[in-house]
Formats: sequence, C-alpha cells, structure tokens
Amino acid sequence: MQSHENRQADVVIVGGGVAGLSCAIFTAKAGLRTIILDSPDSQLRGVKQVWNFPGFEQGIAGADWLASARTQAVLQGAVVREEKVVALELQARPYTAKTETGNTYEAPFLVLAVNLGSELLATQGLELAVNEYVPSKKIRYVTEAQSNGQTSREGVFVAGLLANLPSQSVIAAGQGAFVGVQIASAFGQKPFMWHD
Ligand SMILES: Cc1cc2nc3c(=O)[nH]c(=O)nc-3n(C[C@H](O)[C@H](O)[C@H](O)COP(=O)(O)OP(=O)(O)OC[C@H]3O[C@@H](n4cnc5c(N)ncnc54)[C@H](O)[C@@H]3O)c2cc1C
Repeated sequence: MQSHENRQADVVIVGGGVAGLSCAIFTAKAGLRTIILDSPDSQLRGVKQVWNFPGFEQGIAGADWLASARTQAVLQGAVVREEKVVALELQARPYTAKTETGNTYEAPFLVLAVNLGSELLATQGLELAVNEYVPSKKIRYVTEAQSNGQTSREGVFVAGLLANLPSQSVIAAGQGAFVGVQIASAFGQKPFMWHD
C-alpha cells in the first residue's frame, strides 16, 4: 500500500505524454519531488515513425520516444504512476488530483498536460476552445493559458497542445520543458539553469 507521503509532491503533472514527460525531466533535475499521473495514451504512441524530431535522423517510433523520455524522467528522480485522473481541485494550494484508483495527490505546482483528456479541465472552470493550429480541429486549448503555460492560478500550468501549439511533438516537448524550467525557477526563487 502507498504511504500518504508518496502522494505529496512539489509538482504533480497530469498527463505523461510528450509535454508532461519533458516537463518532468526538468523539475526532477531541479530536485523537486515530481509525480506524473498518466493514463497512458499519448497521441504519439501510435505513430510508427516520427521523422521531424531533431536529433533522430533515422526517425524514431513514437512509442520508443515515449519510453525513452519516461526513463529519462525517472532517472532524474520523477515518479510515474499509471493512474487516470478523474477529478481536480484547483481553487487553492495545495492543488489536488484524484485518480480512478481513489488516490489523491497534492502539490503547490500542478501541470495540466492531458491533450485529448481536456474534458477534465472544464470541471474547474477552465474554458476550452478549438486549437486552430491543428488542422483536424479535434484538439482544444485552455483559453486563459499563455503560450508559456501560465494560467491565472499561481502554480497551475498548461503544457503541450493544450497550450495552443502547432501539432508537432517537438514543439510540445519544448513547451513542456519551458514549463518545467519556470516551475524550477519559481521553486528555487532564481532562474533555473541546467547546462552539462
Ligand atoms: C495520427 C497522428 C500522427 C502524428 N504524427 C506526428 C509526427 O509524425 N510528428 C510529430 O512531431 N507529431 C506527430 N503527431 C502529434 C504528436 O502526437 C503530438 O504533438 C504530441 O503527442 C502532443 O503532446 P502532448 O503532451 O500535448 O499530448 P500527448 O502526447 O497526447 O500526451 C497526453 C497524455 O495525457 C494523458 N492523459 C489524458 N487524460 C488523462 C487523465 N485524465 N489522467 C491522466 N493522464 C491523462 C494521455 O494518456 C497522454 O499520455 C501525431 C499525432 C497523431 C494523432
């Protein structure tokens, strides 16, 4: 059985797809206790070969990219739980995410990176609109979120296509990393730098 402490974090990331994993790599590297809650059904998982992600000139299978990014996040110290979030509480810190298994996770920073799972956000008064960058018009975005992911609620960020980005995964990855750096900077109260 999980201990209560395991459900308290510095950052809870809802959605462990491209943006959520990218964000976690940075927050975990910064030493923040990072928990990723994922269903896991990233849109990238079904993509046989991704050719437009810089650094992979031979292409990479979407599932392989996800597995590698997850390992990278875990190696930095992030915890991944395959639990679907069914309810959020974003009115006051610490913010909470309740999963279908009945667990409730809490943190002062919460990242919403659920992409197609956006119906979850409407329950918190987060208005959604069609992401016009994506031709299918099936993707929505959080209208109050800026492209850096910041919402009107301090510590609540939006990552990935939900932040009104074009559909390419490298853009979601970059924006997710940006969200992670912003959280690490806010937590450490100085700009976060990671250069090896
Ligand atoms: C058919 C197709 C082909 C594509 N081909 C390419 C391509 O060739 N190159 C390219 O760059 N991009 C491609 N993309 C786009 C790419 O998949 C997206 O850019 C990328 O997945 C977006 O990242 P994201 O983090 O916003 O969302 P996702 O990667 O979809 O991640 C969202 C995550 O949140 C999880 N989630 C949702 N709801 C919940 C919940 N309630 N609780 C917990 N977890 C939840 C999901 O299961 C998922 O793991 C393609 C997309 C599709 C559909």
